[in-house]
Amino acid sequence: MQQYKVIIVGTGFAGICLGIKLKELGINNLLFLEKAEEVGGTWRENIYPGAECDVPSALYSYSFEQNSNWSCKWANQSEIHEYQINMAKKYALYEHIQFSQNVVKAIYDEELHLWQIDTSTGERYLCQHFVSAIGQLHYPSIPAFNNDHLYKGDLFHSARWNSDIDLNGKEVAVIGNAASALQFIPEIAKQVKQLTVFQRSPNWIIAKPNRSYWPWEKWLLENVPFFMSLKRLALWLRGEWVLLPAIRKNPLARWVLKNMCLWNMKKYINDPELVNKLTPDYPMGAKRILFSDNYYETLARDNVSLDTSGVESFTEEGIKSKDGEVNKFDAIIYGTGFKTNPFFASIHIQGLDGLSIRDSWEDGAQAYLGVSTKGFPNLHMMYGPNTNLGHNSIIIMLEAQARYIAQCIENMEQAGISAISVKPEVEATYNEEIQARLNNMAFSEIDQSWYMDRGRITQNWAGSTSEYMRRLRHFDLSAYQVLG
Ligand code: NAP
Repeated sequence: MQQYKVIIVGTGFAGICLGIKLKELGINNLLFLEKAEEVGGTWRENIYPGAECDVPSALYSYSFEQNSNWSCKWANQSEIHEYQINMAKKYALYEHIQFSQNVVKAIYDEELHLWQIDTSTGERYLCQHFVSAIGQLHYPSIPAFNNDHLYKGDLFHSARWNSDIDLNGKEVAVIGNAASALQFIPEIAKQVKQLTVFQRSPNWIIAKPNRSYWPWEKWLLENVPFFMSLKRLALWLRGEWVLLPAIRKNPLARWVLKNMCLWNMKKYINDPELVNKLTPDYPMGAKRILFSDNYYETLARDNVSLDTSGVESFTEEGIKSKDGEVNKFDAIIYGTGFKTNPFFASIHIQGLDGLSIRDSWEDGAQAYLGVSTKGFPNLHMMYGPNTNLGHNSIIIMLEAQARYIAQCIENMEQAGISAISVKPEVEATYNEEIQARLNNMAFSEIDQSWYMDRGRITQNWAGSTSEYMRRLRHFDLSAYQVLG
């Protein structure tokens, strides 16, 4: 059986970035295992109408591969996916990828210092370094509603969009109204006869405002050195200096953002009762701050209605609301997000002393720098615990992790070290610090969100992206035990 230096699971933005950084260091004994048949991760999977990034594209791209060809300020799914494919081609990553390989098990062999990786098709792979680059948002969350098994119409989740179903002229319900739903609701509202949006809680929504690049802007981006970098810098600073302070509960930043949201809403919604229903009662930044130019405009359409009473039960033909109203729907679409916990829901990972990562994390996921966790030698996580952001581009975090992991592997090579495991006390101290800081941030001002696992914030980072980059700039072997 061939033995690899590094196996990376997943070929989204994280995996591609690490592949590039490893190859730059001359580490070519590298294999990607990808469950699908193309690279792209979330940008391959989420093909719902209107799918586009809510981080401006000038920032939502690798710092070392800035792209002056985005058609508009917030690129759509297909353009972002094309960018990823181009990256994988440019850096010759395809030759390292095994597609249709869904990893189900990873067992660490303490004597050989090797990870044994099994896939659902029965293949087995061996490697020294096992990297998870599977993302945080890939298992659709489908809530259980009373009698949902009775419903006979079309039913699907936004992340499993069924393009075979023609929604033209249909009566459609959407359950959920957050980042995904508010992108596809405006698109399908143009086609359907009647659309009902089931909103459990409203969100803070700022205007983007998206538009195509003007020709002179494109010219500047393509021809003037540093223009793209300056644009990127300005967008990055907006996240660090405006959005992050709001998440850190700064009253002025919150006041500014709140008024931007209300202005965005009141441009289209005049009815005070509807304004009331659409105004969140939770603090700015506790959940993801959303961006849309056309969500409120869509809600104001004659063929769109908002149900805030809630879903009482499904019927054979539709939904009975909690206010007693029964409506027929040809299709019901879940915009209900993702199961974010437990981490590694579909992979059994076993480290030292036969301990599974699920048992190791019985109180919720945690990791040193979001990358390493005690008892799991040479397991490196990308977009791991406490590395999600509510204020800036996740690609900044992924690049920091890719550089750190590549450095770690290179340093171990040079020092002749086979295996390391983060010191338990280092991980514990780090996590105490992160949790204490998170407790003072907006994320902990509500009882439940996808950022949390049983009340503890397991998904989000506690600081700025610049702090995270600084903390991961230099791999420090003294934080780890050398096992061999
Ligand atoms: P989400 O933020 O988890 O939102 C799920 C929606 O479904 C919420 O409105 C939620 O209501 C509702 N919901 C969940 N369970 C429900 C139930 N039992 N009954 C009624 N309503 C229910 O999911 P998402 O919109 O897919 O977004 C997830 C994350 O993906 C985002 O936070 C973001 O990080 C990422 N994303 C990014 C982009 C981008 O442009 N970069 C686009 C889409 C998604 P409550 O609010 O009351 O819980």
